[in-house]
Amino acid sequence: MSGNRPQKPATKLVHAGRRSSQYHGVVNPPVLHASTILFESLAELEQAGASKPGKVTYGRHGTPTRFLLEEAVAELEGGFGTLCVSSGVAAITNTILALVKPGDHILVTDSTYFPTRNLCDTFLKKFGVETQYYDPTIGGDIAGLIRDNTVLVWCESPGSLTFEMQDIPAIAKAAHARGVKVLLDNTWASPILCRPFDMGVDISIQAGTKYIVGHSDVMMGTITTATEEDLLTCKKQVVLSGDAIGPDDCYLAQRGLRTLGVRLRQHHESGLKVAKWLQGRPEVKRVLHPGLPDDPGHAIWKRDFTGASGLFSFVLHPITKPQLANMVDHMDLFGMGFSWGGFESLILPSDPKKIRTATKWDEDGQLIRLHIGLEDTDDLIADLEAGFERLKTV
Ligand SMILES: *Cc1c(COP(=O)(O)O)cnc(C)c1O
Repeated sequence: MSGNRPQKPATKLVHAGRRSSQYHGVVNPPVLHASTILFESLAELEQAGASKPGKVTYGRHGTPTRFLLEEAVAELEGGFGTLCVSSGVAAITNTILALVKPGDHILVTDSTYFPTRNLCDTFLKKFGVETQYYDPTIGGDIAGLIRDNTVLVWCESPGSLTFEMQDIPAIAKAAHARGVKVLLDNTWASPILCRPFDMGVDISIQAGTKYIVGHSDVMMGTITTATEEDLLTCKKQVVLSGDAIGPDDCYLAQRGLRTLGVRLRQHHESGLKVAKWLQGRPEVKRVLHPGLPDDPGHAIWKRDFTGASGLFSFVLHPITKPQLANMVDHMDLFGMGFSWGGFESLILPSDPKKIRTATKWDEDGQLIRLHIGLEDTDDLIADLEAGFERLKTV
């Protein structure tokens, strides 16, 4: 941080994690590729074993390219420290594994990102950790599900695919009363739109792949903790896993970070505009976007978030598979593919029915997830409108 004056997020986005004066005045941190690091003396080599934070000892443990990105993310999130890993899933897996042991019980929101569930239902189960899924809208009633062996509550708000908002402060209050940690997948909002540590979250993870990187070309994940103790616990697990994100990817993530604020402002505005347009269409049954005033999660979103990103879903009135294919196969601007958070718009038909266990998804119409990119919304709306017209020609 420069000076002692507090900085607003937009300012931090520009200045955090840069040490230009240490690198010949170069604006962006340099890309330092390394496996071997050479030591000048036996004394220095023996010191390296102590593995002090920020010390460069071996490529897998990072170089300043990664450390400066970690510094920037930690400052933005307002956490004690950040670990950057090679994907969002690596962040999720390492964080959960760092905190559990056989015999433990964990609570996971039913609306969580599918690979998080996959970890719980396969590896954690085999490892003797019991997962209980809960209704994402449970709020403070989570207290009734906490057992003596519960170690963590996993949250994601809004939820993947269906965008239910969670009352994180209420969950955190109930969990902390029983000494249980609260973890949040904050990928949708990033720390620009939602401040996890102000709501009582202990560890915040993000798929940096999405909005931090912002250009659909790099995989990365972040783990940010409120305390030094949790950072060291997670770091031990990351080291054990052998995870190592490369410096080129850290460089691109740093570069993406600098424009995160302005990009998100546009995703917010364009996303809401398209969502409102969809609400007026006869083909559409429901739009799932917490920024819409009639969304069931709107009050929580308004209380806890300062904006929306560009990702939301809508439900169509029932159509046939060939009708759906005729719509999504011929979009001009919306690409079809996984992931999101880049500058471009995406369309993804999905079915939450098969995934849920604690709650029921009983909409009979097709769910479609959209990522609204940075294109002009008039062009995006025209593309969607032509898609709806194609529903009629099958
Ligand atoms: C994409 C995503 C992840 C995983 O990130 P990867 O970098 O693809 O591994 C985790 N959480 C959420 C909410 C996501 O959308």
